[in-house]
Amino acid sequence: MKIRLLGSAAAEGIPAIFCRCELCQKAKELGGKDIRTRTSALVDDNLKIDFPPDTFMHVLRDGDMISDFEHLIITHTHHDHFYPEDIRMRTPDFAKDFGDVVNIYGNENVVQRCHETLENEKEYFNIAPVQAFTTNEIGGKLITPLPADHKPDENSFIYFIEKEGKTCLYGHDTGVFPEETFNWLAQRVIDIAILDCTNGLIDRKTIHMNIEAVKDTKAKFAELGVLHEKSRVVATHFSHNCGLLHDDLEKLLVPFGIDVAYDGMELQV
Ligand SMILES: [Zn+2]
Ligand SMILES: [Zn+2]
Ligand SMILES: [Zn+2]
Repeated sequence: MKIRLLGSAAAEGIPAIFCRCELCQKAKELGGKDIRTRTSALVDDNLKIDFPPDTFMHVLRDGDMISDFEHLIITHTHHDHFYPEDIRMRTPDFAKDFGDVVNIYGNENVVQRCHETLENEKEYFNIAPVQAFTTNEIGGKLITPLPADHKPDENSFIYFIEKEGKTCLYGHDTGVFPEETFNWLAQRVIDIAILDCTNGLIDRKTIHMNIEAVKDTKAKFAELGVLHEKSRVVATHFSHNCGLLHDDLEKLLVPFGIDVAYDGMELQV
């Protein structure tokens, strides 16, 4: 299984659109891994996780492979993960030769927003609700939504993805996982865990995690026996509010065996 991280920033991106803070200014000067777009991932080229407003930019950067997916799974309806107005661009008035029907999966809020936005273009999309702890076979993978601690008015999900015995936990957006999510994961083996590190050194572990919570989650995984020697834990979804450059994040996380995501990072398992 190949996982390409298309973006690695929280909702505002880095540098944030309107921001003149010290981190955003430094990021503009340094470029490279310090430029972060809104998060999304491509799994094996046929499955996309989330559809941020930066999808257009991701296609400019990476080419058609970003728009050739057959399946789209959505974590929750915050705009940095779900921008259905641009999904609508995959219809005949806005695109030609775009291929077969795309399958979109998500919670009830995602399904409702899809129906509202794509009301006149239903023939180009299959829109399917998914439920926590119910495993679905999607694009040659087994995909299980798990409850997150994120959006109180919505069943936000993180996703556990399995293919040919290999596994990836797409673990954001969320604060420290609910106990029921840890309990479900306790029966599994995790090859790659991608975790929410929005808050950096800020003292907050609910709704989003911080560095301490990412380290604690890795320790909890170890305690549950779900990691092995070659398992990788990757922190992502960074906010400019934490004020940390890529190098700063590496100094704080790599000594603890946690990798720091960047736009375009590829993970293979
Ligand atoms: Zn987010
Ligand atoms: Zn800023
Ligand atoms: Zn969110």
